[in-house]
Amino acid sequence: MTSTTAPRGDDRKSLSAYRAALREFLESDTALDEWRGRHYPTVPAELQHHAQLMKLLYAGGWNRYGWPVSAGGLGGDERHRAVLYDELSAHGLPVPGQHLVMETLGPPTVRFAPEVARTLFPGFLGGTEWWGQGFSEPEAGSDLASLRCRATREGDDYIVNGQKLWTSYGATARRLVCLVRTGTTESRHRGLSMLLIDVDTPGLQTRPIALASGREELAEVFFDSVRVPASRLIGEHDQGWAVAMYLLQFERGMYAWLTSTVLLQRLNTLRNQLRDRGIRRDGSAVRLGNVYLDIVALRARSAQTVQRLAEGETIGPEASTDKILLGTAEQSLYDAARDLLGPLIDIGTGPDLDTWRDEWWYSRAATILGGSAEVQRGIIADRVLKLP
Ligand SMILES: Cc1cc2nc3c(=O)[nH]c(=O)nc-3n(C[C@H](O)[C@H](O)[C@H](O)COP(=O)(O)OP(=O)(O)OC[C@H]3O[C@@H](n4cnc5c(N)ncnc54)[C@H](O)[C@@H]3O)c2cc1C
Repeated sequence: MTSTTAPRGDDRKSLSAYRAALREFLESDTALDEWRGRHYPTVPAELQHHAQLMKLLYAGGWNRYGWPVSAGGLGGDERHRAVLYDELSAHGLPVPGQHLVMETLGPPTVRFAPEVARTLFPGFLGGTEWWGQGFSEPEAGSDLASLRCRATREGDDYIVNGQKLWTSYGATARRLVCLVRTGTTESRHRGLSMLLIDVDTPGLQTRPIALASGREELAEVFFDSVRVPASRLIGEHDQGWAVAMYLLQFERGMYAWLTSTVLLQRLNTLRNQLRDRGIRRDGSAVRLGNVYLDIVALRARSAQTVQRLAEGETIGPEASTDKILLGTAEQSLYDAARDLLGPLIDIGTGPDLDTWRDEWWYSRAATILGGSAEVQRGIIADRVLKLP
């Protein structure tokens, strides 16, 4: 039997009912096959195709769980989102790239800008548009509080001038959540605000940046007197740092869970591909076992974080542990793939090998994006362990 919609009524918030119905849908709907085992030549092509998957999931209600009704969701909490990612990955489907960014930008929008969430978030969830995160700048990455992209209040609007850098999916995103300076430079984190900015506003320009793999995954963004309505503030004027800190727990916590589901799927695929290609190397079983342990360690930690977020707890600096385990697991898997597939990963062609090659390159950034591993260790030492 094909179940076309997610459970409702009394079952609405039951995790087990949601998981069971979702599994049935993912196992029985043959329309989903076109998303399995695909390699996309470009990032825009991938996002476009993933957007179609989101439309399908949205129409059935599946990816609306875990988000409030007021923002286009169907209620529930972070655990519903965790189940969705788990099941998509377990069924050989991609977790749409849009969901990676949504895990970062959705929670603060829902909490600090309910009206923006009510009007615009359903489009993000439904795959008709996606957003990007404009925090980093040429001279402000780890030291985010030094950022200089400035927003000046003029009547009911802000006028934004400056630049953002390394914006994931920034070249195709419809809107950008930007952290901007509204106070003096010396005010550091106290003089920042967060704005949701439409990329088609006059004065805004995006320029794609190609990664080492050649894929144009990131972008730099230039603002020349870009007019943004003050109604697009996420949080209060000059209170952007508090919003950013709230956001980071999701960027480091939910993102880690989501990625762990993908890593498990990829480890399974690697094992099958090595077997199908007849590749046997000394120590390969131990190597794969160690990767599994790295992923399981991440998931053990991450499951707790998801649970705590679902209970409304503040994770704060503790999310840095999830981020470090994530970087470790990601690089462990892709380094193993590289070593075990050997020269195939460098010179082989075909969807499987092209995907491994792109992913290996991307995994180099796993200890940089979302806050570098060195900085995370510093946060844990100072703020969690309170070392002298
Ligand atoms: C693939 C990818 C996707 C990204 N996506 C986004 C995005 O969507 N939106 C966005 O806003 N940004 C994004 N970024 C930017 C990312 O958040 C920054 O690259 C990261 O925070 C590091 O900042 P930086 O590049 O300026 O490096 P820097 O801060 O200049 O750091 C350089 C080196 O110095 C080390 N270092 C810096 N400070 C310390 C310290 N206090 N203690 C110890 N070591 C330190 C760092 O670990 C690093 O090795 C992305 C980056 C990548 C690679």
